[in-house]
Amino acid sequence: MESRNLWTTYSEEQLKELQQVNESYKVYLDNGKTERECILEAVKMAKEVGYRDLNDVIAKGETLKKGDRVYAVCMDKTIAMFQIGEEPLENGMNILGAHVDSPRIDVKQNPLYEAGELAYLDTHYYGGVKKYQWVTIPLAIHGVVAKKDGSVVEIVIGEDEKDPVLCITDLLIHLAYEQLEAKASKVIEGEKLDLLIGNMPLDGEEKEAVKANVLKLLKEKYDIEEEDFVSAELEIVPAGKARDCGLDRSMVIAYGQDDRVCAFTSLLAMLEAKDLKKTACCLLVDKEEIGSVGATGMQSRFFENVVAELLLAMGVDSNIKVRRALANSKMLSSDVSAAYDPMFESVFEKKNTAYFGHGMVFNKYTGRGGKSGSNDANAEYIAYLRRIFERENVNFQTAELGRVDIGGGGTIAYILANYGMDVIDSGVAVLCMHAPWEVTSKADVYEAYRGYKAFLIGE
Ligand code: MN
Ligand code: MN
Repeated sequence: MESRNLWTTYSEEQLKELQQVNESYKVYLDNGKTERECILEAVKMAKEVGYRDLNDVIAKGETLKKGDRVYAVCMDKTIAMFQIGEEPLENGMNILGAHVDSPRIDVKQNPLYEAGELAYLDTHYYGGVKKYQWVTIPLAIHGVVAKKDGSVVEIVIGEDEKDPVLCITDLLIHLAYEQLEAKASKVIEGEKLDLLIGNMPLDGEEKEAVKANVLKLLKEKYDIEEEDFVSAELEIVPAGKARDCGLDRSMVIAYGQDDRVCAFTSLLAMLEAKDLKKTACCLLVDKEEIGSVGATGMQSRFFENVVAELLLAMGVDSNIKVRRALANSKMLSSDVSAAYDPMFESVFEKKNTAYFGHGMVFNKYTGRGGKSGSNDANAEYIAYLRRIFERENVNFQTAELGRVDIGGGGTIAYILANYGMDVIDSGVAVLCMHAPWEVTSKADVYEAYRGYKAFLIGE
């Protein structure tokens, strides 16, 4: 199958819509630089178009009917949204799934220290990062500090123009003869990723006066003590907003596009869907980058439990119907794909590679080596998707993650497939995946949105 560059195929009207989708996308990226912020923003957007908390519906004893829109959130880090369709739930749902956690650097539980009259936060990176990419760039801190009294302090430092930013230092080139001989994985080691946060001593303080001054500032501004770091989740991310990239403004450069590009386009398609035959579901989950583990990762029972609650709220109390609803579902497990990069062409096999501007990407399988760890989508399911996409004029391409045996990766696809449903990996091609700043094509963002809309309409 031949895919093509889509830019010159769009009408004026389509180009206008493409720009609108990408403008909203950049706003979503700026408002959501952590999984919590992404979920908060999704809830806000959902409420604006009539979504209600499933727990409230249950508490009021209401019965859900066709067209109703509900959501359930797990620990502010994962959301499942539903729009009730015409057919019974046991016939299956059309599910859009993506993850909202991104590679980053987390602050340790006992982080604050002083060395050489500089104050630092000790850190532990999250997800797959090339550590050398995170030094000498402006960084921001986003997160929460949960205090013993039950209150939660929200923190964002480094995004407002007037805010200070933080940074991780690197060795000057003049003294780096030894460092430059090291393997790229050793150039900057994990314990060297500590965040520089201050240099001004507290007047009158004898010992660790710089650290003392930082603590004084934290107390004044946020009313937190040093020991409150123990119950905090503070994430260090690149400071700054999503921006247009390229003289032709054809691309978006931003932090966290893996996988917020799929999360946002799935969310947008979900919010706009109406009059559906099958119940639509949009799942935005946490912890994909570290194996989908924990209560808020895709492996959690959260989703299965919510489907049972949803059925109950529709007046159906039946375990077998929960199982049927899951088994009969179809899913687009959406995650980013590697975009062809001519600078590194040797890792790609050109016939089975995703190209910028060629539309949404389908990966029949991911995995590594002999497809190890991958969900291998069923041929009949792919034929179904071809039918739907052709009907709705959605442009797509198929790809593998690089040449055979050169690397690999996983997604949440195999976890949903455990229910016996049809699942395929799909998504958007990205350049410099997992780097502090990742690049996507606006045409691909647009086609993903269109593809998800077509998928929710179904056959
Ligand atoms: Mn991903
Ligand atoms: Mn990733």
